[in-house]
Amino acid sequence: MPRRIPHRSRTSGDWELRLSGPHEPMAIHGGGGYTWGMTVWLKDRTADELHEALAPLGVTRRTARRLQAAAVRRDLLPSHLPEVSDQVLARVRDAVRLPRLVLRDKRVSARDGFAKYLFEGEGQGLFEAVRIPLLHRAGKDRYVVCVSSQVGCPLGCAFCATGRMGFTRDLASWEMVDQVVRIQADSRYPVRGVVFMGMGEPLLNYEAVVRAARILSEPCGMAVAAKAISLSTAGIVPGIRRFTADRLPFRLVVSLSAAVSARRQMLMPVEAAHPLPELMAAVRDHHAATGRRVVLAWTMISGFNTREADAVELAGLLAGLPVTLDLIDVNDATGRFRPPSAEELRAFRDALRKHLGEPVARRYSGGADIHAACGMLATTGAAAEQGGS
Ligand code: SF4
Repeated sequence: MPRRIPHRSRTSGDWELRLSGPHEPMAIHGGGGYTWGMTVWLKDRTADELHEALAPLGVTRRTARRLQAAAVRRDLLPSHLPEVSDQVLARVRDAVRLPRLVLRDKRVSARDGFAKYLFEGEGQGLFEAVRIPLLHRAGKDRYVVCVSSQVGCPLGCAFCATGRMGFTRDLASWEMVDQVVRIQADSRYPVRGVVFMGMGEPLLNYEAVVRAARILSEPCGMAVAAKAISLSTAGIVPGIRRFTADRLPFRLVVSLSAAVSARRQMLMPVEAAHPLPELMAAVRDHHAATGRRVVLAWTMISGFNTREADAVELAGLLAGLPVTLDLIDVNDATGRFRPPSAEELRAFRDALRKHLGEPVARRYSGGADIHAACGMLATTGAAAEQGGS
C-alpha cells in the first residue's frame, strides 16, 4: 500500500482580523473586496489579487501595481503616490500591513562566496535561504536565491539534513517572497534567478509557492524571468500533474537519484507513495503538454548510484524522453554518504554518455563550509548542529 505523506496545507494571505494571530485564515468578504477592520498583507498577493482586495477603497489596477512595486522592490509602503489622493492613500495605509522577516543570522563562505541567511517569520520555527553568486561573466554579476518553502520537510530523504528535522509548517507566500526581498536588499548585484530548492517540498505547499513565484516574476514586482524560476520536487505526482495542468511558465526539476524503485526507496521514502512508474508517467505527460525538456536531479552517492549499471537503468527508464540530467554531489554532514571520487565521476559520466545520450550537467553545490550546500539546510536539533545554524 502506498504510504500517506503527511501534509498540512494552509490558506495563507486571505483576510485576517487585525487582532487575530498572524495568518489565521478567515472567509473572504464581499467577493474578495475590502471589509472594514481587516488587514491585507502585502508581498502575499499578486498585483491583480491586491487590486481585487483594495478596489473597494478606490484603488485602481495601476495604483495596485505601484503598491506592489513599492512593497516587493523597495520594501516600503509609500507615503505619496502620483495620481492617488491623500484620502485614498490614508485608507490604504490603514488597511494593509507590510510584513518583514527577521534576519537571525548570516554566514558567507570564505571558499566560494555562497551566503546563508537564517530567518524568522510569523509562525513557528526558523528557516534558511542561500544566495548563490554567478560571477563568472565579467560585468554581468548576478545572484540566484535558493528559497525555502517549508520549515523542515515531511519527506525524510536519507541524504538530507532538512528531512531529518521533520516537518513543522508550510511557509506563507510573503515569507518566501521576503527571503528574496531581504537578500536583494543585502546584495550588491541583482537577483536574476530563484530556485525553490531550500528547506521543504514545494509541491506540498503548492498554492503558496506558485503565488510566491508569480509575485517574484511580475514585471511590477521583482521581475525575475519566469524561466529563471525553478520548482524542485522529490516526486509529488499530484503536484506535478497540477503544475502541468496550470500551464505555469516556471521550470520543473524532479529529483530522481535512482532508476529502480527498490533502490530509490532506500534514499527517498516518497517512492512508496509515488512509485517511479507513476512519477515517470507524470513527467512524460508534462513534457508532452509543455514541449519542455524536463530537468532531472541526480544526487550522486559513491558506490550507490554512480555505477555503469545505474546509467543503463536510467537510460531504460528515460527511453525516448528528452531530459537534462543535473549531477549534484551529495553533502551529508553525518558522513554516512560520500560523493564520488574524481575517477568514479569520470567513469559515471562516460557511462551516461554511452547509454543515455542526453545532456548531462554537473551542478556545483557550494557553501559546504557554512552548511549551505544542497541537503545541508537545517535549523533544529541535531540537524542544526550539523547544519551550523
Ligand atoms: Fe525534503 Fe528536499 Fe530534503 Fe527530500 S531533499 S527531505 S524533499 S528538503
